Amino acid sequence: IIEVSHMKKSFGPLDVLKDVSFDIQRNEVVAVIGPSGSGKSTMLRSLVHLEEINGGSIKVQDQYLVKDGAYSAPKQIKTITSRMGMVFQHFNLFPHLTVQENLALAPKYVKKESKDEVNRRGTALLQKVGLADKAGVYPANLSGGQKQRVAIARALMMNPDILLFDEPTSALDPELTGEVLEVIKQLARENMTMIIVTHEMGFARDVADRILFMDHGQVIESGTPEQIFYHPKTDRTREFLNRAM
Ligand code: ATP
Ligand code: MG
Repeated sequence: IIEVSHMKKSFGPLDVLKDVSFDIQRNEVVAVIGPSGSGKSTMLRSLVHLEEINGGSIKVQDQYLVKDGAYSAPKQIKTITSRMGMVFQHFNLFPHLTVQENLALAPKYVKKESKDEVNRRGTALLQKVGLADKAGVYPANLSGGQKQRVAIARALMMNPDILLFDEPTSALDPELTGEVLEVIKQLARENMTMIIVTHEMGFARDVADRILFMDHGQVIESGTPEQIFYHPKTDRTREFLNRAM
């Protein structure tokens, strides 16, 4: 569903992504792990066109977002990125809007859906993430775990084909991570295609079909959780896991 080949990205003199290639299959859950600064967020942000890469190609469902460093027309970029939902570390909810209004915003304005349809789906999705009673509440009155579950519901409002998560639990107190990870696990059981950048090694092992290990702007190793965690092929992977687990 996603094909990345020879992706390169630099910020000034700093080469943050160096020749990164990988594929994501439909219905696959891929966890991305790696040290701080290895380029995980930049990689995710590039997939949804929050960053522009300097070389290489990104193809989503047979359409190029960028081919050999040349970006497609804005309309095609919009079509492609509208099929992807992103959940950030810091929720990024609109503080002046209620939960229901946060959910309704994008579908109403981007997809021009009717109010009834938007409300119906919003209610269903809040129920799904266990927040049916919070529709009228403002984000300031939610816990971190609740905010993140709203952020997930909001991403789902656009019916994305692919969900991307950038450390969805690392801003949360430990006792709140479980409720967010449970929602992501439920989505995995429903065969949602997901790329999840995470520092939660236990979660990655449990939920992912495949793990990508990144270091210094490169994908060092890709394999099943079993391969990566118990039979890593490279010393860099082994050293990282020894420190992280
Ligand atoms: P972490 O685990 O800490 O979130 P990461 O793997 O997500 O790290 P990135 O955020 O992708 O790493 O950053 C990779 C490198 O790119 C870092 O050295 C970072 O300082 C640099 N970088 C990221 N964004 C920018 C930017 N907008 N301008 C300049 N440098 C940047
Ligand atoms: Mg990051």
